[in-house]
Amino acid sequence: MSKNFSFDQFSKLLPFESIILVYHLVSDNDVKHVKHLFPYRSPKQFEKDLDFLSKHFEFIDWDDFINKKKTSKPSVLLTFDDGYREFYDIISPILLRKGIFAINYINPKFIDNNEMMWRNKASLIVSGIIENKNFQDKMFEWTGNKSKDIISSVLSINFKDKHQLDEIADHLEIDIKNYLKTNPVYLTAEQLQKLKNDGFGIASHGWDHPLYNQLSLIEQLENTQKSLDHMNENHFMIDSFAFPFTDHLVKNQFFDSVFSQNPDLRVTFGAAGLKLDSNEKNIQRIPIEIRNYSVEEVLKNEIIYYQFLKNIKKNMIKRS
Ligand SMILES: [Zn+2]
Repeated sequence: MSKNFSFDQFSKLLPFESIILVYHLVSDNDVKHVKHLFPYRSPKQFEKDLDFLSKHFEFIDWDDFINKKKTSKPSVLLTFDDGYREFYDIISPILLRKGIFAINYINPKFIDNNEMMWRNKASLIVSGIIENKNFQDKMFEWTGNKSKDIISSVLSINFKDKHQLDEIADHLEIDIKNYLKTNPVYLTAEQLQKLKNDGFGIASHGWDHPLYNQLSLIEQLENTQKSLDHMNENHFMIDSFAFPFTDHLVKNQFFDSVFSQNPDLRVTFGAAGLKLDSNEKNIQRIPIEIRNYSVEEVLKNEIIYYQFLKNIKKNMIKRS
């Protein structure tokens, strides 16, 4: 990406008045249960993102977003997925200091760290294999495969086969419950209440972070409803929902049912970057944790790619 073009030239091409960004966590630490899934930012890099964004955008809160408040600059809404504890320890103090609102899309099943989300297990296992010669030998004896191949197959285990991750963890004697106890991964119920009292949004990201296109319609609706009911019982937000992973291949029937069963629900969010969606209530967010790109680079790429998609009339996700 050429550095010669200022962002202002790009922002003129921004197709929407408002953008929504999605992060997961911010940390200076070696986060073993995440590091093999996506690159996360250090607090310093995150603050740099916020400084860049505040120059070119206006940060908005949920009410302004949902009421489509007119802003002088394009508006930006921050969202954080998966309910990692770093939101409490690291992110919320930065946002509070800067007066910036954000929503956490969380999976109720993992509140209080009694269980680990399957993708976090995959990253934790891979960290163990990389760091531990004994694990490499055990896996070789068990499978006859080299570590490099084992790592890529662990990372490609899908939601339907997630029990395989427990089998591997057992075989390697990785004690996931103990890991969660000594090193909490997710926000606790108490922290969530404190974040709510500090003005942050807490909302649903599905019950246990399934991949929706691997579920039947009934399973999709059950998983969503169970998580929305949890939000309702705990007085969190029930007017939005963010799909775990992706809304790819989720059909109109799902949206029709979920919106009719939940009259308070106003929007659902995907994470496919700048794109329109044939279902108007489903809005796409921009994932920011891509390679080591700065937020400026991510947004420039998104804007250029959107223009390209628009030229070939593929800037809208069409659902059946
Ligand atoms: Zn997620």
